Amino acid sequence: ASLPIRRALFSVSDKTGLVEFARYLAGRGVEILSTGGTAKALREAGIAVVEVADHTGFPEMLDGRVKTLHPKIHGGLLGIRGNAEHEAAMAEHGIAPIDLLVVNLYPFEQTVARGADYDTCIENIDIGGPALIRGASKNHAAVTVVVDVEDYAVVQAEMEANNGATTFELRRRLAGIAYARTGAYDSAIWRFFSQQTGEPFPRRVVLAADLHQSLRYGENPHQKAAFYVAPQNRRPGVSSARQIQGKELSFNNINDTNAAYELVAEFERPAVAIIKHANPCGVAVGDDIATAYRAALANDPVSAFGGIVAVNRRLDAATAAEITQLFTEVVIAPEADDDAIAAFAAKKNLRLLLTGGLPDPAAQAMSFRTVAGGLLIQTRDNGVTTEADLKVVTKRAPTAQELADLLFAFRVCKHVKSNAVVYAKNGATVGIGAGQMSRVDSSRIAAWKSREAAEAAGHSEPGTVGSVVASDAFFPFADGLLAAAAAGATAVIQPGGSVRDAEVIAAADEAGLAMVFTGIRHFRH
Ligand code: 5GP
Repeated sequence: ASLPIRRALFSVSDKTGLVEFARYLAGRGVEILSTGGTAKALREAGIAVVEVADHTGFPEMLDGRVKTLHPKIHGGLLGIRGNAEHEAAMAEHGIAPIDLLVVNLYPFEQTVARGADYDTCIENIDIGGPALIRGASKNHAAVTVVVDVEDYAVVQAEMEANNGATTFELRRRLAGIAYARTGAYDSAIWRFFSQQTGEPFPRRVVLAADLHQSLRYGENPHQKAAFYVAPQNRRPGVSSARQIQGKELSFNNINDTNAAYELVAEFERPAVAIIKHANPCGVAVGDDIATAYRAALANDPVSAFGGIVAVNRRLDAATAAEITQLFTEVVIAPEADDDAIAAFAAKKNLRLLLTGGLPDPAAQAMSFRTVAGGLLIQTRDNGVTTEADLKVVTKRAPTAQELADLLFAFRVCKHVKSNAVVYAKNGATVGIGAGQMSRVDSSRIAAWKSREAAEAAGHSEPGTVGSVVASDAFFPFADGLLAAAAAGATAVIQPGGSVRDAEVIAAADEAGLAMVFTGIRHFRH
């Protein structure tokens, strides 16, 4: 049923839009109750309010820990309208019904995110707010609950259209939104505790993430999808990016752009990655990003069509102009020169994203994946291999150039679907084998793609000649390694740890290869 709003309770930490909404309600003759800070803001704006403390006859106390926890407040929200016993009890104890609750909670998530000390975080756990929200939402048969500033306009529009009343449909919808808020709030509090105790895996998982963007569809047009962002878990990247221009991002765009940006963040030198279907089809480092872009593109210019380009440096106009030569879906960079932004303007559909910073590849975070009826959670793969981690296992040690390329290739490998085999030369990938069920096949495909690219470019020999090769997991047999040697690779990087390591090392020595073990594996399924 449509029910008129006669009395409202306001208790908000975020005072955005408060005065305008309250003024509208006051103009409709709604009586406004509110807690100390909210009442002050309203009074200063010239809006008549009754303080909760005056309404209950009980002061706010204990540093605000107890403000609204009083039967006159909770009874006013919870009492069933039209129920004779409830109404009699309310009348007997002087409990006035409250029809509208407007609450947003102490900013716990923001307090944690800004690195506040332990006691401050604890003090920012709102107690009365969630109690109000949960009670009022249970009684949505009669009570309207607003927990998001953006819903002020929704309630106002309905009251306006409905002679000051709200409909059951709206109240029920807002109740659902409200419980999602209190659930996410407690989940964020759990996350804080887990950071303190170092216990990453809880008994129960509730994902605290806010709706960031509704998507037109998911991986395929018949799938529905939305993009959520966890406020406590922000890293520079696709979730924090400012979209400067272009069409709306799709589900696949977001996934692929994330893969591209995480990849370029691995490198200290200027780097460019071109991604298709979450796998790179070219990655390079160079003295500047224009050079790196050309080298990355040369790896597989055919696949790069319709790709996603990530760079780890400020984007300049010359590089931007080169990128626009080829159909590109998304470009993501930490920042861009004004004339670089202007260079993209002619490509109206191309999405340009600027993040303001790069993610830290070594950062700790959780990664999630669903299985039928369940959820797999793991810490993210934040292993970053450096020269100090390497063990030379062959008679020949890699040259300085080989060493640089080996480390580069192995970092790329981490971002390629398994089985992953990556050939690299002079800071650029020259052949990538991704997602095969056999490591030998990945090795062969990478070499074959390299030959194709060389032929198309009119080169006499494929890029794999004189290259190095990286494998995301150990070679279980010598065959994968020998396939790489046959393609012209001179040095190999791999985790090691196979029962046949000795056999594989002997084959490498026989072929004159230099080989290093990393001791760390980068499966990516
Ligand atoms: P104000 O700025 O009006 O003084 O306080 C508003 C905040 O207090 C809101 O975020 C609201 O959720 C919170 N709040 C309301 N009642 C209580 C209570 O009884 N205990 C605690 N800890 N917070 C409350």
